[in-house]
Amino acid sequence: MIVEYHRPQSMEEALDLLARSQPRTTVLGGGLFVNQEQKEEIAVVDVQSLGLSDIQAKGNKLVLGSAVTLQELLVSGQAPEALEKSIRHQDPYNRRQVATVAGTLMAADGRSPFTTALLALDPILESVRAGEEAKEDHLGDFLPLRAERLSGALVTNLIIPRNAALAYEYVARSPADLPLVSAAVGQWPSGRTRVVLGGYGDQPVMVLDGPTPDGAAAAARDAYSQAGDAWAEASYRSEVAGVLVERCLEGISEEKEG
Ligand SMILES: Cc1cc2nc3c(=O)[nH]c(=O)nc-3n(C[C@H](O)[C@H](O)[C@H](O)COP(=O)(O)OP(=O)(O)OC[C@H]3O[C@@H](n4cnc5c(N)ncnc54)[C@H](O)[C@@H]3O)c2cc1C
Repeated sequence: MIVEYHRPQSMEEALDLLARSQPRTTVLGGGLFVNQEQKEEIAVVDVQSLGLSDIQAKGNKLVLGSAVTLQELLVSGQAPEALEKSIRHQDPYNRRQVATVAGTLMAADGRSPFTTALLALDPILESVRAGEEAKEDHLGDFLPLRAERLSGALVTNLIIPRNAALAYEYVARSPADLPLVSAAVGQWPSGRTRVVLGGYGDQPVMVLDGPTPDGAAAAARDAYSQAGDAWAEASYRSEVAGVLVERCLEGISEEKEG
C-alpha cells in the first residue's frame, strides 16, 4: 500500500527521500507495476518533475531519459525499427502512454519484448544515489542485481548505440500475446554480434557476444535446452530459439544489402 506520495522538484530532494529506510521509499515511473496491490507500506517518489523525459541523439548514441514513456520513444522516430516492433509487442497503446523506459526495464521478467530487444544493443544505464557519484553499468550487468542496486537509487538515463543494426523476432500464442520465445540480434559495423533470448525465466538471457555471428543459432538452442515451463516445453523453445536467431541474422543481412 502506498502511504506517502512525493513529487520532488530537484534531484537532491529525490535522492534524500530515496535514501530513507522508513517507510521503504521507491521510485514511481508510470506506476503500472508500483500501483499493483502490495502488503508492504511504501512511499513513492514520482520522477516526473526531474527533467528525465528527453530523447537526445548525440553522435553515435541515443540518450533516453529514464522517464521517457514507451509511446514517446515509439513516435520519436529515433528508435531502430526493431526496437519499435518490440515496444508495440510490449504494451498496448494505453499502457505505452504510461509505462516509462526505466520502469519497464526494472519490472521486466524474461518475457519482456522491450528488454530483450534493448539488451541486444548492450545499452549503458546511468544511476545515482544520495552522496555518491553517478554510476554507469551495462544494462546486462545491472539487471540480475537490480533488487539490490535499486535500493535508494534512481535510474537517470539509458544510453543506446546508434551504429548497431537490430532485429527482433518472436513466436507467441497470438500476435499480441507475450512471447513463448523471442530473439534479438544486435550487430555492429565491426561484425560484433550480440544475441539475446526472451520468453522464459526472470530476465532475458544473452547467449552470444562475439566478433562474428558464428555459432549463434547453436548457442541459442543450447541456452534454451532446459527452458521448459507451463507455457512451452524446453525442446520446443530450444528449436524455435535457433530458428528465430537465424531469422534475425537474415533480416540484418537483407537490411545491409538493401
Ligand atoms: C494491467 C497490467 C498489465 C501488464 N501487462 C504486462 C505485460 O503484458 N508485459 C509486461 O512485460 N509487463 C506488463 N505489465 C507490467 C507493466 O507494463 C510494466 O511493469 C511497466 O512497463 C512498468 O513501467 P512503469 O513506468 O509504469 O513502472 P513503475 O510501476 O513506475 O515502476 C516499475 C519498477 O521500476 C522502478 N523504477 C521506475 N522508474 C525508475 C527509475 N527512474 N529509477 C529506478 N527505479 C525505477 C520502480 O521503483 C518499480 O520497482 C502490466 C502491468 C499492468 C498494470
